[in-house]
Amino acid sequence: MLPLYNFHSHSHHCDGKESMEEYVKAAIDKKFKAFGFSAHSPLPFPNEWSLTPEGFRRYVQDALYLKEKYGSKINLYLGLEIDFIPGHSDDFDAFVRNTPLDYSIGSVHLVREKESGKIWFIDGPVEGYIKGVDDIFDGDYKAAVTAFYQQTIQMLNTQKLDIIGHIDKVKMHNKQRWFSTAEKWYQDLIDETLQAVKENGCIVELNTRGVYSGKTDEYFPSTDILYKCLELDIPMMVNTDAHHPDQLTMHFDEGHALLKKVGFKKVRTPFGEIEI
Ligand SMILES: [Zn+2]
Ligand SMILES: [Zn+2]
Repeated sequence: MLPLYNFHSHSHHCDGKESMEEYVKAAIDKKFKAFGFSAHSPLPFPNEWSLTPEGFRRYVQDALYLKEKYGSKINLYLGLEIDFIPGHSDDFDAFVRNTPLDYSIGSVHLVREKESGKIWFIDGPVEGYIKGVDDIFDGDYKAAVTAFYQQTIQMLNTQKLDIIGHIDKVKMHNKQRWFSTAEKWYQDLIDETLQAVKENGCIVELNTRGVYSGKTDEYFPSTDILYKCLELDIPMMVNTDAHHPDQLTMHFDEGHALLKKVGFKKVRTPFGEIEI
């Protein structure tokens, strides 16, 4: 049986439910081989979902305590899901320098429009997503989606990250099909993004959250992108982006089965490779 692991999780320190210890206990109960904490990095403006600077200190403290307490039962890793917003977020190095981080996930949830400097939040309710495209990009979905991928490419080329989080998250609210992911301009953006992934050597996660939360029909990334990752020999892993201890293994098996079907023989995690 495939050893259980998950490197993408959020506790009550950011926007998840329950304490970090509850996640660890649940992971031990399920006989996980490895588990990683990845709270949302602090941001320089007030918001509902990322760590506060004080929360960040407590988060690191809790992780180190739990690694000590449960180290003989499970391999625990201290990670961070770091937001990249040009001109707003700190360099990823700033977090790494003074924190004993084991790994980082680089993610884009907030897209900055270059001219106006306005920020489009892609991860909240659909109403905010639409309003953002209308107000910031004059209703032009192609321009908005392009800005998302350009910011992702800039992150890959300027920051040091181990895992890229939900690489095509911008499709999350696209059930109404404002744009077609089959069109050439979209596929070109994917190709350019994957080229940057390849050049900078990070792992692409297959993130199952969109599917089990009912927001997307396909995982992040979509199956056609998985084929492109395979062709480029880009390493992949499966994460559930758990926001509750009950979500630790949601679509874990299905995610691996899909990777296998696409043609992947193994996954790569921060603790090494696993045959699938
Ligand atoms: Zn995220
Ligand atoms: Zn996350």
